Amino acid sequence: MEYADLVLAGGRIFCGLNEGFVEALAIADGKVLATGTTAEIEALTGEKTRRVDLGGRVAVPGLNDAHMHLLMLGIGMNEINLRPESGVRSLEEIFKRIAQEVAVKPAGEWIRGGGYDHFELSEQRHPTIEELDTIAPDHPVYITRTCGHVGIANSAAMRLANITHDTPSPSGGLIEKRNGKLSGLLAESGMRVVTDKIPPLSRDELKAAITRAAGFMLSQGFTSVMDAAVGMGYGMEELHAYEELASAGELPIRTWVCIYGNHDGIGDQAHAQGFRAKRQTGNLRYGAMKVFSDGSAGGLTAAMSEPYVAGDPNNFGIFCYSDAEMHKSLKHYHELGYQLAIHAIGDAAIEQVLSGIENADSAEHPIKTRRHRIEHCGFLSDGQIERMAKAGIDPVPQPMFIYEFGDLYVANLGEKRAHASYPMRKWVDAGLHPAASSDAPVTSTNPFQNIYTLVTRKTKVGSVIGGDQCLTREEAIHAYTHFGAYTQFAENETGRLVAGMAADIAVLSKDIFTCDVEEIRSDVVCDMTVLDGKVVFERQV
Ligand SMILES: [Zn+2]
Repeated sequence: MEYADLVLAGGRIFCGLNEGFVEALAIADGKVLATGTTAEIEALTGEKTRRVDLGGRVAVPGLNDAHMHLLMLGIGMNEINLRPESGVRSLEEIFKRIAQEVAVKPAGEWIRGGGYDHFELSEQRHPTIEELDTIAPDHPVYITRTCGHVGIANSAAMRLANITHDTPSPSGGLIEKRNGKLSGLLAESGMRVVTDKIPPLSRDELKAAITRAAGFMLSQGFTSVMDAAVGMGYGMEELHAYEELASAGELPIRTWVCIYGNHDGIGDQAHAQGFRAKRQTGNLRYGAMKVFSDGSAGGLTAAMSEPYVAGDPNNFGIFCYSDAEMHKSLKHYHELGYQLAIHAIGDAAIEQVLSGIENADSAEHPIKTRRHRIEHCGFLSDGQIERMAKAGIDPVPQPMFIYEFGDLYVANLGEKRAHASYPMRKWVDAGLHPAASSDAPVTSTNPFQNIYTLVTRKTKVGSVIGGDQCLTREEAIHAYTHFGAYTQFAENETGRLVAGMAADIAVLSKDIFTCDVEEIRSDVVCDMTVLDGKVVFERQV
């Protein structure tokens, strides 16, 4: 008889939406050996079995962030964190954090930071070039606003980019001047004039960034992620960095690769070099191809069938490609065997993508079994949901968008469209697999904040957006585990705790199924993460 390597008991273990709860679980050879009563599992223990006492806590299947940017998150983690939630509420705090970097970095080295929001600062304004020069006269400094569309550079950075008071703004961008002098503020293509001068990261630095972000994800109970646009920043180098880590057995988390396939991306190059669907290297699996179809609803750029109610009354948002170009691209990648993972937020963009996928259907390449996905999929009609169900297309939403941007959606699109956005309940009832995700670093990776939003539909100021679309707590965990696995063709390996499936488990500090609902957001943290039967994270208390 086979003895367990590891046993979890003394609390409640949620094995899956249909499987429900058990008292104890045994692991052997990286897989779930059995689930059952304490007595049943106790019978499987031997001398070498390690026991984890849950002490009344709850364990769930390892979480799956089905759309985030692991590499970008890791790169950002090495930059100065200026996000409001990290305590940046004044310009003084921004300057203090930059000064700390100046003190330890040799002169001439770039200092990068990101995530500040001037609306959250007591001064209600951006830092200026003079202020940054005072703190960092000899280091090029470049920091970005939380949206990623605005950056501030100091004089040393401007000099490296050959920007003077006389440099005009490039088309599609801004190099801001006040009274004829540079203010430090750059926007859109104006940012690229500076960022082009920042030396690219080496492959080792890319690998370190992936490892850093993966460790952070493990500490929050994640055992699987999708990197949603590999190749967007550093081209093929990103694929090679992932591949090197995975082939050395050093990729810390299961990763579903989504290749960046826009026209300026690496789709065809990656295919030609053998990075094809169903390729697998250790923890790393390939399958998806990312194409963008529109912008964002917060930024008034998601393509809508009716105009926005804020700003220009004739603004319907933007399309990245014409219908013909998009349809051609989707058919092309579909026929190459990839799972399409198309960024579409507005209903007009979703229409373009849906008709494009339907168009790509053929006897030789049927769409039904391919599990194509629409990333974000924020604003859509009931008819479009029906078509998604018929074509086997799943949405991959970010509950945190409701928390962070829900009130902005009301302002930009009006009550009706905002409340109908990200309709989790309708998707679940239609038999779709809406895989919960964070889109980090766009929003926080915190899964408990996300689960809180799934069950309450509350924004950060407490308003409820689409209260009829709430999920139960069990369904929310299901969306964060099984649905993610399903979108990665892994539903028989991960996402539930069933004998024979991977022993990927998160032990939570509190019973997320019974605690006060507000405590999901404020109190629950991950205490322990198990991946392939090995304890890969333990919170120090
Ligand atoms: Zn994304």
